[in-house]
Amino acid sequence: MKNFKLSDWAIKNNIFKKDVLLLRKSINNKWKLIIAGTEIDKGHKDCFLCREFLKDSCVSCVVFKKTDHSKCKETPITKWIKHQKGVHKKKNLPYKIECSTCKKIAQDVINFAEKLYKELIQ
Ligand SMILES: [Zn+2]
Repeated sequence: MKNFKLSDWAIKNNIFKKDVLLLRKSINNKWKLIIAGTEIDKGHKDCFLCREFLKDSCVSCVVFKKTDHSKCKETPITKWIKHQKGVHKKKNLPYKIECSTCKKIAQDVINFAEKLYKELIQ
């Protein structure tokens, strides 16, 4: 996993290898575990990217650089939060898989992140 090269797009956008690894960790050590049901979503507290970039309004985060929006606004995370609040009546974090739609949306989050990951490496 450490033997990769940054894509031209990543270099052009001042993205570093450490940023790509944080994205990878958020997929493997967070969202895949949420889908498996062994972990819950603590939002920015357990996102490896948020821990690093939220303090500066996300501007150095790979997701921000891709979407031009802070706080994952233009990603499936928005759908995830809306579903948790609307369908499962959660007022606050943490969120977890409660139904098949939760699982589908969590998979959308992973698909979004995997697609972005592929755009960052060559
Ligand atoms: Zn659900």
